[in-house]
Amino acid sequence: MTHPLSDRINSLPVSQTLAMAAKARELRAEGKDIIGLSLGEPDFNTPDFIKDAAIEAINQNYNSYTPVDGYVALKEAICTKFKRDNDLVYKPNQIVVSTGAKQSIANVAQVLLNPGDEVLLPAPYWVSYAAIAILSEATYVEIPSAIENDFKITPAQLEASITPKTKMIFFNSPNNPSGTIYSEAEYRALAAVLEKYPKIFILSDEIYEHINYDAKPFSFAAIESMYDRTITVNGLAKAFAMTGWRVGYLGAPEWIAKACTKMQGQVTSGTNCIAQRAAITAVLAPVSKIQYMVDEFKTRRDIIINLLREIDGFKINVPEGAFYVFPDISAFFGKTINGVKIENASDFSLFLLEKANVATVTGDAFGTPNCIRLSYAASELQIREAIKRIKKALS
Ligand code: GLU
Repeated sequence: MTHPLSDRINSLPVSQTLAMAAKARELRAEGKDIIGLSLGEPDFNTPDFIKDAAIEAINQNYNSYTPVDGYVALKEAICTKFKRDNDLVYKPNQIVVSTGAKQSIANVAQVLLNPGDEVLLPAPYWVSYAAIAILSEATYVEIPSAIENDFKITPAQLEASITPKTKMIFFNSPNNPSGTIYSEAEYRALAAVLEKYPKIFILSDEIYEHINYDAKPFSFAAIESMYDRTITVNGLAKAFAMTGWRVGYLGAPEWIAKACTKMQGQVTSGTNCIAQRAAITAVLAPVSKIQYMVDEFKTRRDIIINLLREIDGFKINVPEGAFYVFPDISAFFGKTINGVKIENASDFSLFLLEKANVATVTGDAFGTPNCIRLSYAASELQIREAIKRIKKALS
């Protein structure tokens, strides 16, 4: 029976990162020993100093509605953080706190996009960007990249993708799923193109900012000519191991921040009060307090790329940040392995789930159909076991 659902929801793809995580959970509940390398979720506990701030907030009876755009103290703390880490000057009235960076991005799309507008998505891109553009009745235009070029797009590609309908670009560095970090010079080269098209807005998703191994990431809005049309999105989930707390935020020109607040005021209101109080402590903490997690991720990155390199057919680059590897596995397409015909990355990802009990995410979900994503936000033991199983299933 077909239910009378809206065209809107019918046209919306399911989030494949969440779908794969749900599938892994389901199989585990059936008693299968699944190793989950699908979800980008730190396996650390939230640091004690942040948990203590939340407990204190409960005891101090923080239980009422918050201002829709967030507590002033949190917005001030975020301004301090933007100046400290990104050399960005924002005032509290340019900040909107949301229920995760995902909501911040959705707010921006809802308030800036009209039907028919085009959003540029350098591929690979995070699964929800395309869905969020669709929800805003915009269309999206993929700009492809290749593993040989560390999944970076060039200024010439950017310029060739721009049409009179282009309204925004969603830019993400460190990137999910590739782990790629653009250098300041590369940002400036892209900005030089955008300078010629003053009507294009930039949504700069910097959620993986602190998870970098060699170079500190740059911010689009730090380029003077981009500041007035850049929305800088960030959040607490990844760097502070706070995925379930749901706190994201943006810094933007005041008129965009105001519009996002208006949107949020009709949809969800202010973010959870306890999580916001804890977020004040988290964003003001020196980055050195979370360095142990970043160091651990780096160790795991080195382990996983070395292990994957030993498998014939996996083409690997070295991600510089985030906690994903995004190997090109197209060498397996057209082959029959273990009785299973592999036609594409989705088949391959499903094959790994069924024959190796390892959950990954197909590159199709990220606009890059030759690859799969493996999250190494898992223990070293799990990573080693997962790759051992993958090797065995493929042999
Ligand atoms: N952002 C994470 C990921 O890509 C969490 C899941 C999601 O919201 O997509 O795995």
